[in-house]
Amino acid sequence: MNQIPKYFSAGNLTTYLQCPFKFKLAYIDGLATLYKKHKPYLSAGTTVHKVLSEFFLLEKEKRSIDTMLELLDKHWVSEGYTSKEEETDYKHQVINWLRNFYHNNDIFVIPRYVEEFFRVPIKEFYITGKIDRIDDFEDGVEIIDYKTGGYVPTEEEFKKDLQMNIYAIACFEKYKLFPKKISEIYLQHNYKISATLTQEDLTNTKNNIIEIVEKIYSDKEFKPQKSNLCPYCDFLTVCPEMGMGVKVVQKEKMEQELKEINRQLEKAINDLSLLNSMTLEISSIMDSEKLIDIVTEYISQLGRIKQVAVYMLEQEENIFKLKKSIGCKEPWIKSIEMKTLYTYFGFENAVTSKIIDNQEITTKLKCQKVLFLPMIAKEKILGFVLVAQKTDYSDFSHYDISLLQNLLNHIAVSINNARLYELAITDGLTKLYDQRYFLLQLEQELLRAERYNSVFSLLMIDIDFFKQVNDTYGHLAGDSVLKQLAKILLKSVRETDIVCRYGGEEFSIILISCGKNWAEQIATRIKSNVENAEFDINGKKIKLTVSIGVETFYKGITKQQIISHADKALYKAKLAGRNRVVVYENFIS
Ligand code: GH3
Ligand code: MG
Ligand code: MG
Repeated sequence: MNQIPKYFSAGNLTTYLQCPFKFKLAYIDGLATLYKKHKPYLSAGTTVHKVLSEFFLLEKEKRSIDTMLELLDKHWVSEGYTSKEEETDYKHQVINWLRNFYHNNDIFVIPRYVEEFFRVPIKEFYITGKIDRIDDFEDGVEIIDYKTGGYVPTEEEFKKDLQMNIYAIACFEKYKLFPKKISEIYLQHNYKISATLTQEDLTNTKNNIIEIVEKIYSDKEFKPQKSNLCPYCDFLTVCPEMGMGVKVVQKEKMEQELKEINRQLEKAINDLSLLNSMTLEISSIMDSEKLIDIVTEYISQLGRIKQVAVYMLEQEENIFKLKKSIGCKEPWIKSIEMKTLYTYFGFENAVTSKIIDNQEITTKLKCQKVLFLPMIAKEKILGFVLVAQKTDYSDFSHYDISLLQNLLNHIAVSINNARLYELAITDGLTKLYDQRYFLLQLEQELLRAERYNSVFSLLMIDIDFFKQVNDTYGHLAGDSVLKQLAKILLKSVRETDIVCRYGGEEFSIILISCGKNWAEQIATRIKSNVENAEFDINGKKIKLTVSIGVETFYKGITKQQIISHADKALYKAKLAGRNRVVVYENFIS
């Protein structure tokens, strides 16, 4: 029920007594008009009421049977008849009723009221309706109601008729005219039934009405009861008791539910296909830093989220550091210690995704509700992501959390694998690629250059008189110098070039897409960068130089050849006095 009724007609109250469900339907927006059908007896009834009310408003002289039939033509309602024959048939019947009425009733009476609408307050509700006719009668009035069909009651039943009693109450309350007599005229049967009322009758009726309305107000379920009136109900098509209607209502409900399910499925399909393309891309990335870099973007895109921040665990320090954030106007906390994380987010055993609305934490993070999503691989926490505010401002659902956690699980595994791989191919001291990786990459580059007619160059670099560094400052100082040199090498070339520790104090660099002249220039730049650098040994600055041998790819050259040529050029550089660059081709010719 979308509204609790305040106005009750005799029809409403009788309906409720017969079938609460029908009563309820009448109050549900749309259903009443949707399912209420025009029927011949209703149309005929409307016609007759219009004819009689207009007839009794005419002056006495004009009240002939012909005028009555003229009024019938004027007010005839055609709706509800299924065929012309049915309509003609009904019209004949109505003419008959009117004729009988004309000849058997006092047609010259001057009514006090005709078609009298009322809306009378009773307690906190109103009774409403329309009285067909009110005539003067001795020391009170007579209420007259026309009936075109239906069951003719006994005198006993008629005295208790709810509709007539409501009319009596309304008449008394509105005009303070005592309805001494109530009458119904059954046109079809050419029969008039009357009853006289007392004040006590009116009081009883009033209490009865109040009782029914209170029952309606407290009736939350409106359980329908099958009654012998059912076959005549206008709401038959929607009545669960009678069957068919339920299907109509349920069908509509099911359609809505299906639409909603469909909408959710479509969203899930979109999300899953996005998740799929993201995980495909993730698995092709071998660089752990690049993976960390894309987390914010992917999370924000997949979860439609405004604020994302990624924290990664720094193993040695046991601290999570903010790596990247998007959408956080004021940056959230920059770092968080492992043990603080556990107390902050209330983890006891396993670290799991969690919505955090603890004010102490959210104030520290300078945001409202946040979602904590851990990045876990091989049962180890690598980091976590904090996300806040969806673009549509809705709350995080279980669906959101599982979707995002799914993506993060993929990323975590990829980061872990990338790190393991990086560990396997890098040199522990300098973090440059090791010789094994260098040889593999060299092979790859050779194949690529042969196939695509591209070019690349190889630099072999050796520190001049490195032994002296070790001898003078010790082996640890030597290590530190190697680390510093590695950094200079990385800074001197492009990110795509492959910088390796070939062994000891020897380095090799594959310069991608780089021809001979350009390679010589880069080698010279490296030589100068090293020469100009100051190497720090416990605060003491020392100078160093390197010698560099260069060879550039040409068609047919083998892996061994290119290494040996660069090596030979390096050897030549050493012989020629060190701190210099020698290009192999130049020196053999
Ligand atoms: P040159 O100019 O002829 O290259 O002279 P050099 O002293 O650099 O050459 P040599 O090959 O005689 O000496 C290389 C030294 O590098 C010897 C070795 O102890 C040192 N070395 C190699 N690997 C490491 C390392 O990992 N750490 C340290 N501290 N020293 C290393
Ligand atoms: Mg050396
Ligand atoms: Mg050496």
